[in-house]
Amino acid sequence: MSVSFVINPLDFVQNAGIHHGKIPVDALVRLHDFLFDKEGELIYQISGQFDKHEKPGLHLEINGKIHLSCQRCLGKLLHTIDLQTSLVLVKTEAELDQADEDDTADAILATPDMDVISLIEDEVILSLPISSWHAEGECNVQELESIKENLTNKQSAHPFAALLALKKTN
Ligand SMILES: [Zn+2]
Repeated sequence: MSVSFVINPLDFVQNAGIHHGKIPVDALVRLHDFLFDKEGELIYQISGQFDKHEKPGLHLEINGKIHLSCQRCLGKLLHTIDLQTSLVLVKTEAELDQADEDDTADAILATPDMDVISLIEDEVILSLPISSWHAEGECNVQELESIKENLTNKQSAHPFAALLALKKTN
C-alpha cells in the first residue's frame, strides 16, 4: 500500500494551506526497518505559513503510536509519536547550505512537487530514539532465552541478521 500527498510548498504557503490526514504505518516503507511490526497509524497536520521574518515555512504535527523493538529482548515496545516541527523553505541549494549552518531552524529545499508523506516519514525516523528498551523487569524473558538459543545454534556471521530472521518467522 502506498499513499502520497504532493504539494508545491511555496504555493501551499502562499495560500495559507492546511491539510490533515492519516497514514497507515504499513504505508511508510522506509520506517519499517525500525519497527517491530507495521500496526498503527499516524495522524498528521501540515500548514503553510510565513514566519516573523516573512520566510515561507511548513509546520508539521504528527501523532500516533508505533511499535519499536526492545533492544534487550527484541519484544514489542510501544512508542508514542508526538512531534511538532517547523521547516523553513529555501529555494536553492546554496540557501540550504547557509540555513544548515544556522542551527535555529531546520530548512528544506522547496521542490515543486514535495511529497508530504515522505517528509513526515523522514521526520518520524529522525525522531526515533537511538536506543530503546522496556522498563526494568518488563522484558519478555522467554523470548530472550529463545533468541540466545537461536544465536548459539546458528553462529551467524552477522548476529543481528539472525535476530531479524527470527523475528520474521514468529
Ligand atoms: Zn524488552
